[in-house]
Amino acid sequence: MTLHEHDVIVVGAGGAGLRAAIAAHEEGADVAMVTKLHPVRSHTGAAEGGINAALRDGDDWELHAYDTMKGSDYLGDAPAIETLAQDAPEEVIQLEHWGMPFSREDDGRVSQRPFGGLSFPRTTYAGAETGHHLLHTMYEQVVKRGIQVYDEFYVSELAVTDHDDPEDRECHGVVAYDIKSGEVVGFRATDGVVLATGGDGQVFDHTTNAVANTGDGPAMAYRAGVPVEDMEFVQFHPTTLPSTGVLISEGVRGEGGILYNDEGERFMFEYGYASNAGELASRDVVARAELTEVNNGRGINDEYVHLDMRHLGDERIYDRLENIIHLAEDFEGVNPVEEPMPVKPGQHYHMGGIETNENGQTCIDGLYAAGECACASVHGSNRLGGNALPELIVLGARAGHHAAGKDMETAQVPTGPSAKSEDETSLETPVSPGEVGVDDDVVADGGAIADPKAVVENAVERERQRIEELLERDGTNHAEIREDLQKAMTENVNVFRNEEGLKKALEVIRECRERYQDVAVADPSRTFNTDLIHTIETRNLIDIAETITLGALAREEFRGAHWRQEHQERKDDEWLKHTMISWNGGSPDLYYKPVILEGENKEYEPKVRSY
Ligand SMILES: Cc1cc2nc3c(=O)[nH]c(=O)nc-3n(C[C@H](O)[C@H](O)[C@H](O)COP(=O)(O)OP(=O)(O)OC[C@H]3O[C@@H](n4cnc5c(N)ncnc54)[C@H](O)[C@@H]3O)c2cc1C
Repeated sequence: MTLHEHDVIVVGAGGAGLRAAIAAHEEGADVAMVTKLHPVRSHTGAAEGGINAALRDGDDWELHAYDTMKGSDYLGDAPAIETLAQDAPEEVIQLEHWGMPFSREDDGRVSQRPFGGLSFPRTTYAGAETGHHLLHTMYEQVVKRGIQVYDEFYVSELAVTDHDDPEDRECHGVVAYDIKSGEVVGFRATDGVVLATGGDGQVFDHTTNAVANTGDGPAMAYRAGVPVEDMEFVQFHPTTLPSTGVLISEGVRGEGGILYNDEGERFMFEYGYASNAGELASRDVVARAELTEVNNGRGINDEYVHLDMRHLGDERIYDRLENIIHLAEDFEGVNPVEEPMPVKPGQHYHMGGIETNENGQTCIDGLYAAGECACASVHGSNRLGGNALPELIVLGARAGHHAAGKDMETAQVPTGPSAKSEDETSLETPVSPGEVGVDDDVVADGGAIADPKAVVENAVERERQRIEELLERDGTNHAEIREDLQKAMTENVNVFRNEEGLKKALEVIRECRERYQDVAVADPSRTFNTDLIHTIETRNLIDIAETITLGALAREEFRGAHWRQEHQERKDDEWLKHTMISWNGGSPDLYYKPVILEGENKEYEPKVRSY
């Protein structure tokens, strides 16, 4: 059995993983990255618009923190939000020192542009290819430092001890399928494992996310006993191309792009959706406005609205948004210099994820998470545009430092089932999750194995057997299951949600879980077997879809990105709390934990959120 051993193992090599690995290396750790994609093919490369940091006179971290808390609809935790706002400037300046080619003003200063929900133009960018440059800049640092990258290794399970209480468990490594050789191998981490596996947009069938975004990290952590947090909060971006889901950056509206309905009206103002900020209101507000227009018969072809940037002029478009021209031409056949672009909301980002504190720690010792797969919680119920990239570098760095043993301030955000709210009424849920119909493959060692190496070896052996079985037996193809799951989620767990639809989605998810019991891989080959990988990913999508839907059904209010037809108000008295879901041996346990609104210098008081 092949067993690689390093101090710190980082799973995932997007923005969060790269920054975590560099940070662990800065602490002197022997760090390795394990990733299913080559680092520069990670989905961070698709980020277009920019990265928020309070860099200029007139702006400061407190304003950034306030905007983020307001954007979160008061469901973010103040210690995490303030950490993000405080550390972002230094991290962005460091990127610039590492050679990131930020766009600049004539006087040489790094440019910043307005973004939705920001009270100051604090979005720093590199054209409309910010993520691409961010990945390449940090990958250069990884190469320069000689950090080992195991790419084309698919991590399928964590190696975690089997104590009853998840808070007593320890993570000693991961199990990976070597895509090139077909071997199932172990990675033992003597100091810590950092999950940085990105988003899970493939739960839906209209998404800006890549096919690789299948929620592997959250699903693995969840099954190992880490609670997932606020999973019902999924961001639907208002400007995606209707036929493919490809993103048209908020940078277009930041530069002055305008939204029109079928009657040529600038509906954001005309119908009072956001009388001050208009197109630059927060994403949840704009996405709902667009769909309301469509539902009221003012959509174009009953499906979308128009985003017009022609008035910005060729020079500005080519200077700051050239990439948008190519995307609209290649994926929708529209030249946006000459005509408006059709756009509609599409799944874009998951605010929820693996529960962590502001140092990236989960409740399992030695297991960390950072980036989109994690929930610290910085974004609460709605993420502001430009706030994911700073999260990658700020919280990625903190997770990497902590995993490598740096002595850091104790985190203020509590984690694990012991952080459960004491409010008994909050434990009630209108749904009975029921049995999930899977076996007990929750943790890796199947017994009280104390030796860390043996925990990893045992996990490898279990995964090897599972993969062999998938390859050898006959059964259902995962693709049909995945398609039904994605359709049900897009139809019922989208921007507008109601009880009937959510219950219907849950039924389909449960059926998918049943059908998955007979899943088999059609391609018997041992190398480069994408059918096998997609089959394993589909199981993760089922787990993630179930937590999103359960959380959405239970939350009987309208907050941020979570709109409920039957519950049209934000209910702070009852619902100012995080939704937590624990795997609980295969029968999801839903509970809540309090939101922390107490910041360093002030208490954030929930207010009506208007733009
Ligand atoms: C089109 C688009 C545009 C965006 N624009 C912006 C923007 O302008 N500003 C902003 O702030 N945010 C933006 N976002 C959001 C932001 O880009 C993402 O949230 C962020 O890049 C995610 O980074 P990550 O490091 O968490 O994950 P990723 O970059 O997706 O990396 C995930 C990594 O995990 C690896 N991985 C996953 N599963 C496994 C597994 N099982 N085994 C091994 N490896 C695995 C992958 O190989 C990959 O290396 C945008 C998002 C999209 C989709």
